[in-house]
Amino acid sequence: MSLAERDAQIIWHPYTQMQTAVMPTGITSAKGACLYDEEGNEIIDAISSWWVITHGHCHPYITSRVNAQMQKLDQVIFAGFTHEPAVVLAEKLLRILPGNQQKVFYSDNGSTAVEVALKMCLQFWFNSGAPRKKILAFENGYHGDTFGAMSVSSRSAWTAPFDQLLFETMFIPLPTAGNIHLLKAKIQEYEDELACFIYEPLIQGSAGMIMYEASALDQLLEFCKGNQILLIQDEVFTGFGRTGKHFAADHLIQQADIMCFSKGLTGGLMPLGVTTCTDDIYNAFLSQDKLKTLFHGHSFTANPLACTAAAASIDLLLQQNTQDNIARICQQHRLFREKLAGRQGVKDIRQTGTILAIEFYTAESSGYFSNLRDALYSYFLERQILLRPLGNIIYILPPYCIDNQQLQYVYDAIESALAEFSPHHR
Ligand SMILES: *Cc1c(COP(=O)(O)O)cnc(C)c1O
Repeated sequence: MSLAERDAQIIWHPYTQMQTAVMPTGITSAKGACLYDEEGNEIIDAISSWWVITHGHCHPYITSRVNAQMQKLDQVIFAGFTHEPAVVLAEKLLRILPGNQQKVFYSDNGSTAVEVALKMCLQFWFNSGAPRKKILAFENGYHGDTFGAMSVSSRSAWTAPFDQLLFETMFIPLPTAGNIHLLKAKIQEYEDELACFIYEPLIQGSAGMIMYEASALDQLLEFCKGNQILLIQDEVFTGFGRTGKHFAADHLIQQADIMCFSKGLTGGLMPLGVTTCTDDIYNAFLSQDKLKTLFHGHSFTANPLACTAAAASIDLLLQQNTQDNIARICQQHRLFREKLAGRQGVKDIRQTGTILAIEFYTAESSGYFSNLRDALYSYFLERQILLRPLGNIIYILPPYCIDNQQLQYVYDAIESALAEFSPHHR
């Protein structure tokens, strides 16, 4: 039996309707921008394996560092103990983050990084003696799948079975030059009840790669700060070069109080989450009173192997060669975007750094559950490309090591898909 057949008998996959799903593809190895399946096919990983692989699969520098670390220290409780990988990673990370980020809290994934951020904010106000309990977020936002993260994410088909149990969040639309006054007025109404504002900077990934202006966001952030609403910048997706700069923060003037990281943090080798904060947040938990402690932790908090992978990945990010690759991908995307603009079948094409999204026109209703989505997914996989459309939106966000020839192969496949699936041609 193949891996896929053995899997199908006993495994339940994420975001997958198991009754109608096609057989999973069994992967036996990976290198650089490519995956290798059990039939020996080479598949270009054009979405960085769900947005996590930054420098390519099995990068020799990261794997060798982790290999050395695992001979030395595998895992140790992180309450009352510490270790070099956790300290080194915190030092490296703070060196490249906005200057106001001064403390590092570890967890395991993006959702937990968000949970920690929310708890920091709510308890900040609790500890202050003047509690604020409401949370502000963007419509269409996505911050993860645990209950707190779901609560501050947009209500959707994904959350419908749980909506009754999610805590109330105040949602506002993305800011534009036109609506900023309305948004400010709405926020002002609840001003002293709002504990924090959580947002995906510059781009809402899961919503369909919806992009918006840094300048409008800056205005909104400045206004929130003026009203003492704490800012949680969720850079789980945008961190570590994705937007063309190290962080989305590097496109903004206003600095957040708290930042969340995961996905590209370890270069994709291991799961890890990080929540960073300012000294102001941290200091609000310092007390002789034990009740003011942040009571949060996970068994694998700051796992030494994951921290080692992340530190190695940051080393690579800072190398000139990586920066050149990121700039090259941005440039290639730009050329392809200009080529496709106005093309029949293209409803919209947009880019933020290394992320390129193409919205297909569709006759049927678009959206996450459209049949077009399944057809496109299979179409690309048949051509040995992993692209995972969000409804009628195809996006490319490749590992930075992808070469121009591989990129061109993906662009060409998208062009032929446009011709094939455009409603005008049917
Ligand atoms: C993916 C994502 C998360 C959740 O991260 P997981 O590791 O999948 O739990 C949170 N926020 C944003 C912006 C994301 O894109």
